Amino acid sequence: MPESGSDPLIRQTQLFIDGQWVPAQSGKTFDTINPSNEEVIARVAEGDADDVEHAVLAARRAFDEGPWARMDARDRGKIMHRFCDFIEAEIDELAAIESLDNGKPVKDARSVDIPLAIECIRYYAGWADKIQGSTIPVRGDFLCYTRREPVGVAGQIIPWNFPILMAAWKWGPALATGCTVVMKPAEQTPLTCLRLAYLAQQAGIPDGVINVVPGFGPTAGAAIVQHPGVDKIAFTGSGETAQHIIRQSAGTMKRLTLELGGKSPNIVFADADLESAAEGAHIGIHLNQGQCCCAGSRLFVEDSIHDSFVEKVVDLSRKRRVGDPFDPTTDQGPQVDRDQFEKIMSYIDKGKKDGAVCATGGQRVGDRGFFVEPTVFTEVRDEMAIAQDEIFGPVLSVLRFSDMEELVRRANATTYGLAAAVWTRDVSKAHILAKQLRAGTVWVNCYDVFDAAAPFGGFKQSGFGRELGQRGLDAYLEDKTVTVRLG
Ligand code: ADP
Repeated sequence: MPESGSDPLIRQTQLFIDGQWVPAQSGKTFDTINPSNEEVIARVAEGDADDVEHAVLAARRAFDEGPWARMDARDRGKIMHRFCDFIEAEIDELAAIESLDNGKPVKDARSVDIPLAIECIRYYAGWADKIQGSTIPVRGDFLCYTRREPVGVAGQIIPWNFPILMAAWKWGPALATGCTVVMKPAEQTPLTCLRLAYLAQQAGIPDGVINVVPGFGPTAGAAIVQHPGVDKIAFTGSGETAQHIIRQSAGTMKRLTLELGGKSPNIVFADADLESAAEGAHIGIHLNQGQCCCAGSRLFVEDSIHDSFVEKVVDLSRKRRVGDPFDPTTDQGPQVDRDQFEKIMSYIDKGKKDGAVCATGGQRVGDRGFFVEPTVFTEVRDEMAIAQDEIFGPVLSVLRFSDMEELVRRANATTYGLAAAVWTRDVSKAHILAKQLRAGTVWVNCYDVFDAAAPFGGFKQSGFGRELGQRGLDAYLEDKTVTVRLG
């Protein structure tokens, strides 16, 4: 197979370093697989420590000596907007590549992932010339002010569930603040990130500002984390990898932002609008094949409506169309790879063995590709593995509740704290729970509502730091205090 792959859509498969497309120094490549049919889409250059060294030097030089951090902030914003224009012009091709590589329905990539990514970069483009310090009334005859300066070279390591969107969440604030970047996309889904790097260059982002090194976690990822030339790591992925990153980055004292997993409670009271709550419960778990860190995977339903509500949710799951992600009527594509597929199937097995009732789903779909039926378990108890662990697939655990105090304790009884949702018409109850739930995001009468302006991130072991919004900039800025004697 030629390096560029057999599909004419796939044009970038090499490393992007210092504005150049280069093979890995080792000459190695790895296959990226289409999860719908398990066939190889393309062979991608496999970066490791030597390539990371090259990329960090380029990013370092671009930061320390290049024009990006030095140009007028408003011009940086303009270039970012132009980058978005290029993404918009290629939205259909990008959606197709995303869908091929990740398996998500192309209509979702086209209408959700990419528009959100564009919005995120445009939002941060608007911030570029609004990042400012303050003057501080200190004691004595001094002028004291702060400057907000870019942190430097950002190492960015992203997962495979939203490849384009995760790149945008990372590049948006980094570019706006004047940082430079070495990004490692997930080994399952490197293709759209490489295409975005191409578009960034076309839009005028200078060489060395964005570098992309596809490869594996323990080699390319670990090299970014340990490199002394990298000032900050932004990571989205699993808690286990995050713990490695915390340990491996300690030696060089890197700033860290970590956005990790969840086992988010989605709570439905009897007084809610039950039709929209059922939709919210359905989308909350099944969006993106269940591969969302904020998936509403624990559905708490008030006892008095439990059976009729579960019926609605089961009915929606049964109607969900699983199949070819390029078919416009498909709601759910395959899981991203064999490992994820097998992990999900083993949790389904565990759920059955532990005595939960599989109300719908529970089987593989077809015998080629990694398709899993939308699955709903009822009679789940808090201590079961399917109520405790992040499954990262289309598997919902339904739990009953009757008492609100006990509900809060149970909803919070997890090491995670990424998101939560409450469905009720009672305004006081909604706000009491919004306060009591230990999660970085609480949705009331909605689920998965994201906005580039609204910060997102975790309590507890769901991570630290926030992405999006003004808070998302903080992770890419240092505060400098300047004190000037006047008298
Ligand atoms: P998932 O289980 O969702 O694949 P991971 O945490 O394994 O989550 O992967 C998320 C990202 O972290 C991927 O880009 C992966 O290659 C990278 N990664 C995995 N292990 C390491 C590591 N030891 N150091 C740095 N990055 C890693």
